[in-house]
Amino acid sequence: MGGVNLLEVSIPELAERVRSGDVSAEELTLQALNRVAAVDDELGGFLTVASEQALTRAQQLDERRQQGARLGPLAGIPIGLKDALCTVDQPTTAGARILTGTTRGDADPSQGWRSPYDATAVRKLRAADAVFIGKCNMDAFAMGSSTENSAFRLTRNPHDTTRTPGGSSGGSAVAVAAGMVAGALGSDTGGSVRQPASFTGTVGIKPSYGRVSRYGLIAFASSLDQIGPFARDVRGAAALLEVIAGHDDKDATSVSTKVPPYLEACGQPVEGLRIGVPEEYFAEGLDEEVEKQVRAAIAGLAELGATPVPVSLPHTPYAVATYYIVATAECSSNLARYDGVRYGLRLEDAADLQSMYRATRSAGFGAEVKRRIMLGTYVLSSGYYDAFYGRAQRARTLIVRDFDQAFEHVDLIATPVSPTVAFALGAKIDDPLAMYLADVYTLPASLAGIAAISVPCGLGEHSGMPVGLQLIAPAFEERRMLTAAHAVEQITIH
Ligand code: GLN
Repeated sequence: MGGVNLLEVSIPELAERVRSGDVSAEELTLQALNRVAAVDDELGGFLTVASEQALTRAQQLDERRQQGARLGPLAGIPIGLKDALCTVDQPTTAGARILTGTTRGDADPSQGWRSPYDATAVRKLRAADAVFIGKCNMDAFAMGSSTENSAFRLTRNPHDTTRTPGGSSGGSAVAVAAGMVAGALGSDTGGSVRQPASFTGTVGIKPSYGRVSRYGLIAFASSLDQIGPFARDVRGAAALLEVIAGHDDKDATSVSTKVPPYLEACGQPVEGLRIGVPEEYFAEGLDEEVEKQVRAAIAGLAELGATPVPVSLPHTPYAVATYYIVATAECSSNLARYDGVRYGLRLEDAADLQSMYRATRSAGFGAEVKRRIMLGTYVLSSGYYDAFYGRAQRARTLIVRDFDQAFEHVDLIATPVSPTVAFALGAKIDDPLAMYLADVYTLPASLAGIAAISVPCGLGEHSGMPVGLQLIAPAFEERRMLTAAHAVEQITIH
């Protein structure tokens, strides 16, 4: 193919080329695998690569096509999956040692836990004829913002390998950014799709809570978790969302609201859209080079006929504290299941059941996961419940109300995704509070359960690193957000 990186072609066009026989699924898969072989030792995007399965699958798709079958909307598209998504034919570790069955420092993710079923989002991608290249690195149990909490390996930003790709879905972002796959799935509880998308110059969507089934996503904080797509462009991410969205009997929190045609929303005019610009997101702590690109993108939308409107989201300053109470409380409960009895690791030589639990959990969980389980147990404990958890729930309601009020006046809200561009590896890992505080712009939309996207809006003048614009939409109004994000992409010089 004359050195053309097919994985850089937008997903809908690439799938059409496979359906028409212009390119074979096998050829795409080989390109993906060759790229992984060339760059992933250094970048660390993948935990496991399913070369043989991917090739066999691609050949089967090509055969089906040759026999006259019309392949699906993601025909032959190479996809990476965050390792928090359950897959029957590949191990699943959630980036955590406890799901590998060994406490050794060199625990091998290919020896990870085997799920008896596919996550619903995975099943839907399969049904759309995608090809899975492998499972992507992540912070253990999706707790983190740099992928440095993975039990297995470091993931590096392809734009500057001394920097983090963000997290917790860092591996998925890198797989897309480095052209190892055309698209990927991550999960976003408080920013884990949007922030790595912003740091790697890719597009990442956090759908409205309930839009995508969480069945088969290893739970972190169930009232916040959503699966979301990464792609090189907005249309690619929209095409993936269109496939994975929808009601699922296996997740009672998934909604039955009809899935609209997301792809069609890309390319619609932005004229007349009112874009809220919240003053609280452009305050102290925001790096100048980030602010400059974000404001330029908003000005670009205005030139196309959208109207920027100043808005206020006054409870924004409470979002970090609220999130780190709600999310830790939920994780302390969700992670109780890793006790050595049913999943992964069990330390056998304990005297009784309690000591077996303790030994297994002490050896199997990393420092960040332990910190969160302890925090979460504390905020839920009797005597502290009202002071912490109860209050956080009330603050969450106020944050929801802020958005409701703002959306009475505007159609979308535009903000930075992160106060800085990708930071250096190692810069924050010993300072959890600094790591948490950097989530300030992504947490509110998560707490409110509404939709948000990160779309590249240029490079920082000083660092040369990608900057992401966050567009936030009311629940189930992903289409508006895609329309505006697509417009930003057209005016941004890459
Ligand atoms: N960085 C946030 C945290 O550490 C968000 C993680 C996520 O969205 N999974 O909790």
